[in-house]
Amino acid sequence: MDVKKRIEEITVLLNKYNYEYYVLDNPSVSDAEYDRLMQELIMLEEEHPEYKNPLSPSQRVGGMVQDEFNKITHQRTMLSLANAFNDDDLRDFDRKVREVTGLDKVDYMAEMKIDGLGMSLLYRHNLVYAATRGDGVTGEDVTANVITIKSIPSHIDLDDEFEIRGEVFMPKKSLQKLNEIAKKEGKMEFANARNAAAGSIRQLDSKVAASRGLDAFWYYVVNAKDFNIRYHSKALELADQLGFKTNHERRICHGIDEVISFIEEYSQKRPLLDYDIDGIVIKVDDMSLYDKLGYTAKTPRWAIAYKFPPEEVVTKLLDIIYTVGRTGKITPNAVLEPVRVAGSVVQRATLHNEDYIIDKDLMVGDYVVIRKAGDVIPEVVRPLKERRTGLEEPYHMISNCPVCGYPLIRKDAMHFCLNMDCEARKVESVIHFASKGAMDIEGLGDRVSEQLYSQGFFHDIAGIYDLANYRQDIIYLDGWQAKSVDNLLEAIEKSKNNSLEKVLFGLGIKEVGEKMAKTLARKFNNIDELMKASEEELLEIPDVGPILAHSLTTYFSNEKNIDLITRLKEKGVNFTYLGSTTKAANSYFSGKTCVLTGTLSSMGRKEASEVLENLGAKVTGSVSKATDVVIAGVEAGSKLDKAQSLGITILNETEFLELIK
Ligand code: NAD
Repeated sequence: MDVKKRIEEITVLLNKYNYEYYVLDNPSVSDAEYDRLMQELIMLEEEHPEYKNPLSPSQRVGGMVQDEFNKITHQRTMLSLANAFNDDDLRDFDRKVREVTGLDKVDYMAEMKIDGLGMSLLYRHNLVYAATRGDGVTGEDVTANVITIKSIPSHIDLDDEFEIRGEVFMPKKSLQKLNEIAKKEGKMEFANARNAAAGSIRQLDSKVAASRGLDAFWYYVVNAKDFNIRYHSKALELADQLGFKTNHERRICHGIDEVISFIEEYSQKRPLLDYDIDGIVIKVDDMSLYDKLGYTAKTPRWAIAYKFPPEEVVTKLLDIIYTVGRTGKITPNAVLEPVRVAGSVVQRATLHNEDYIIDKDLMVGDYVVIRKAGDVIPEVVRPLKERRTGLEEPYHMISNCPVCGYPLIRKDAMHFCLNMDCEARKVESVIHFASKGAMDIEGLGDRVSEQLYSQGFFHDIAGIYDLANYRQDIIYLDGWQAKSVDNLLEAIEKSKNNSLEKVLFGLGIKEVGEKMAKTLARKFNNIDELMKASEEELLEIPDVGPILAHSLTTYFSNEKNIDLITRLKEKGVNFTYLGSTTKAANSYFSGKTCVLTGTLSSMGRKEASEVLENLGAKVTGSVSKATDVVIAGVEAGSKLDKAQSLGITILNETEFLELIK
């Protein structure tokens, strides 16, 4: 195996999954799959330290900070937790703690690992702010949303500064209710309680957050020392006295054997809790040992999170059916005998592509192991070959589109239907266009799009802006009333005013994800400029590679696409970037040419460039007389020397963070 290549591959995947999980609140793989890749990366990096990158996902707290919120620099970094997956990992952790502290037996506090969103609250008698963990150094100011949670005190009986951390979560009941409503309205359901909590806390309108039935448990008093508290267990008692909701399903365990018994006990009790947990957190109770035990870049060495193994069940693979996506991509799906796993009934699971099925050696009629790793994305783990009877059908990939019959072509591991007129592609492109990250048209989800498309009320994306002509007809359809039709029409009308990046993402251009759409919108300001750009010009943009550049120019040279954009314009859809123009105009960086050098601890270079560009700066790679500002992180080299010799303004990381606040 080419280790360097494998490390790069995993890094790309984990960065993608982090973005989907922490920014979009919409993961595409299970937590178990993510954890498996992370473990592989850690192992490879340990064996080959020469390939370890300081910005590797294994070295960084995974969260990210979104532009929509004010940023808060944490007074003390908010770290993640190291993971344990079995008893050996736990005993290993205990052994290291005992070695460092010189103790024979350690008292641990075992607590529920709440599956929600980490949060820090700062009080000076009154609540000063509530901040998400973000990347650990900088979080998002979500105070307005957090104070809608009724169990959180708005002030406490203490005049000294007090910082407490915990987890905002969505109780099982609230999630069920929310998903029932989403289903009824044809909107996307939340994948799990964690994503629902994160999505609700990141609402720009606090009324929405307030309606989501969130709650919170508080599990760590950051400055307990200031109150002469030595033990974590005592700090939690103080939190209780001050009116914070702490979780009482906790226990002091004397030594690791008691911890292991506690974990066994709660593996059984887990389904009975009113909230989701994905593991048990174990912390050394004596906080005076914390400094001695120390920290890695990402985690404290005095705590560990035991993660429950994904629940596995056996069911029968009844059939393999195929769906066609908006890009024509064909996805095989397992049709399963309905089976209950991790709290809900599963009857479908994606099988990704032909190779995946062949690798796993699946046959229709097989008994298969299914699992859901803490979330609702079910996966087929393996067939039980020992239960085969000989009646199972060997697998063959289809060769024609299941919807239009067009011959499929294979590209890499995927099969595609290239017929642009394939009905499945059309309705899928409308669903994508209306989805949250794109035009965000409330009420135009999968079910509604399919229903209205099948009635012939629209034939493509532009057609949805003529739906008002069918108002009366829609009212008479199953499941509609005048009010719901008017709400939908209003949402469609509203979407016309979206900023360019929304529509750009909505068009479904291959390789253009939400983040790239933003980059392009910021760069080109309106679609006409983008359409004029050559591949060479596109390649000058950071993050744009040859595949993406080619995909864009191919898309914009297709007459059908130009016609679609023209029709959307005629309907009144905005194609101009409305982004942070006012923010940019008022910014220190507006109009300045900036160079980044060295390593910043709070963000990667790409992210810093984006922030600067968002604030109206031009970011270049080398220092010259034309440079206005150099931002110098740790280990800045020759660029810094050159900037000094040219007398250019130099900002360190703290000054930079202050100015971009
Ligand atoms: P983590 O979930 O493994 O654990 C750390 C977090 O646990 C803390 O930051 C805190 O918020 C929380 N926590 C809950 N109860 C706690 C308690 N009693 N005491 C202390 N902390 C408690 O780490 P993470 O960095 O938040 O997330 C990484 C994990 O998220 C991965 O291991 C993976 O399972 C999941 N993830 C999944 C995807 C995906 O695509 N499926 C992507 C990224 C991350």
